[in-house]
Amino acid sequence: MFATMIRRPHNSLRPPRSMRRAAMAAIVVGCGLVSWALAAPNNETARDVGRPNLVFILADDIGYGDFGCYGATKIKTPNIDRLAAEGRRFTDAHSPSAVCTPTRYALMTGEYAWRKPGTGILPGTAALIIEPGRLTVPALLKRAGYTTGVVGKWHLGLGAASPTDYNGVIQPGPREVGFDYVWLLPATGDRTPCVWIENHRVVGLDPADPIRLDYSIERGHPLSYVNGIPRIGRQIGGKAALWKDDEIADVLTSKAVAFIEKHKDRPFFLYFATHDIHVPRVPHARFRGTSRAGVRGDVVQELDWSVGEVLKVLDRLGLADHTLVMVTSDNGGVLDTNGPDHVNSGTVETNNGHLHNGPLRGNKGSPYEGGTRVPFVARWPGHVKPGTSAALICHVDLLATAAAITGQTLPHDAGPDSFNILPALLGDDRDRPCREHLVEHANRLALRVGTWKYIAPGPARKAKRAKRSVENGELYDLANDLGETTNLAAQQPERVEQMAALLQRIRAGGRSRP
Ligand code: CA
Repeated sequence: MFATMIRRPHNSLRPPRSMRRAAMAAIVVGCGLVSWALAAPNNETARDVGRPNLVFILADDIGYGDFGCYGATKIKTPNIDRLAAEGRRFTDAHSPSAVCTPTRYALMTGEYAWRKPGTGILPGTAALIIEPGRLTVPALLKRAGYTTGVVGKWHLGLGAASPTDYNGVIQPGPREVGFDYVWLLPATGDRTPCVWIENHRVVGLDPADPIRLDYSIERGHPLSYVNGIPRIGRQIGGKAALWKDDEIADVLTSKAVAFIEKHKDRPFFLYFATHDIHVPRVPHARFRGTSRAGVRGDVVQELDWSVGEVLKVLDRLGLADHTLVMVTSDNGGVLDTNGPDHVNSGTVETNNGHLHNGPLRGNKGSPYEGGTRVPFVARWPGHVKPGTSAALICHVDLLATAAAITGQTLPHDAGPDSFNILPALLGDDRDRPCREHLVEHANRLALRVGTWKYIAPGPARKAKRAKRSVENGELYDLANDLGETTNLAAQQPERVEQMAALLQRIRAGGRSRP
């Protein structure tokens, strides 16, 4: 039964059969390509049909059941549903972590965040946690001639040392790890500072009213309020630069669209990290009350509008066929707790029967599937195979996949946990899965091997005590028990032992890909 653990996964460096198929597809559509290239005489590097634009849309706190194409009925997501219908919908895709910062770290670097201390949820005063010069997704794509942009939530720290000084040139930041253009919400919507950053500077900052942050002030304290909403950390100063909460989606979407318009003639990579649907949930008035699942449902529909605007500009500029669009979430869905610290915008009551994580157990932060199994839809007409895929994939795979798409060899020391999932996108993974295993990261580590899942006991940092793991872990058969209702650890100690040992090897080895 563990034969699958031994079979070699797709070698992430060797151009797989799927690439050869892509090359064939390029020949088949060659006539169209030639006419397209001729129609764009200004494009000095005539676009290779196998080298698409990449648009990675990372929503925040969207659950497995939040989109129509994943079963939602009280929330309408026609644009994301259209993307799924025209592309591939994955049913076993995972965020690298059950919370925000470690997911984003892993997405950018191809390294599981739990390998690196200091990658937990960051305050708005944190320094940059990605080493400048490291091979990240945008740095890799720049090597292939891409123009790279990040629009939206960063939450990976800014500046060389904490506390970040927001009043001058803010660096290092995204520009120093590979992005040409930067428009940021620096930390989270519910953390200070509540200002935009463009490239290296806060937008609209009055030098006479400098920004200072006090993270000893907790959310809910009278001094924690910005724009009438309690935040984590007090913001002093920067009044002229404050964002307007109900305009966050509009601002980010317009910046994403503008980036695409500006760089339409060259291959580009856009990392569009939305604030929706994280708290505070403050939809624009035109979305308020439009869903049947309360404000939380309304902001899902606002997110769907943002995705629709991106699809629209790709259509309008004739780029849809040359663009791989992916939409997913940074962790599983969650409802608000009823407390003074929270904006009460998504509760069991307001959800009105909507199951934000579908049939899954657990929420954001949990080692159960509801923590990291998220929607993932991808479209690249003529390449990504339309339909549904049960392949096990993860956002940490973006680095190796971007390397494969652009014909680059990933250096051995880069992206130690990143597998090339291009075969899964192309529907060319039937004989051999891209991933044999995946580590799910929450307050405990869990290991997936196929549809089996082992959850180590205790906090993640203590899980290396493998003996204890064997004694106390949890084991689930997701093929027959997706809701993780029956712990089989006591019945199948051998499988527990093997999976615990593999998890230990992955931890100790410092890498999990070949
Ligand atoms: Ca999140």
